[in-house]
Amino acid sequence: MKTHNSIEGNFWNIIVEYYDGKHPVIEVKPQRLILKIPSRDRDRFDILEILEKHKDWIIEKYSIIRDALKELTSLEFVDRSYEEFKELVNRLVEEVSEKLLGLNVFRVRYRRMKTRWASLSPRGILTINTLAMKLPEYLIKYIVFHEVCHIFSRRHDDRFKRCITKYYPNYEELEKKLFLYEIKMIETNTW
Ligand SMILES: [Zn+2]
Repeated sequence: MKTHNSIEGNFWNIIVEYYDGKHPVIEVKPQRLILKIPSRDRDRFDILEILEKHKDWIIEKYSIIRDALKELTSLEFVDRSYEEFKELVNRLVEEVSEKLLGLNVFRVRYRRMKTRWASLSPRGILTINTLAMKLPEYLIKYIVFHEVCHIFSRRHDDRFKRCITKYYPNYEELEKKLFLYEIKMIETNTW
């Protein structure tokens, strides 16, 4: 389903998708807004009501994007080979899981993903988006740390935040940086 709408005078290309999850998810991208609705009980959700409820958040995200589009030229992609990337990720996974959090080392899988930088399966397999090879090392390390913290909770709740803020009290800044890189990749047709 595809429709046009406007929120506070900003025109959006709003795309509604159904997905295999429990909660509605909103993603704001340059020129489009994706609303993912749990397919199981899709009739329970009122699209306009969801957008209205999260209007302030959407507008804030949109203003970040608008500012970001001006800053994108100062954001550099890192040039490293796939082999170098895998070596780096393996080292970071070991450092983060074992040394920083005292957990067993996670297994890593590499995949080109369309909607996220990484994910953690319920069995503890870490999947990293191969596009992350273009990111600076400190952001790759943050991605690894973020996913490993999901071992404590699948959601971004208090348990998750207790883990992430141990080493990243400024994690919101890093999330914003990742969002900017994603926008840059979308704008340069890399994503
Ligand atoms: Zn997460």
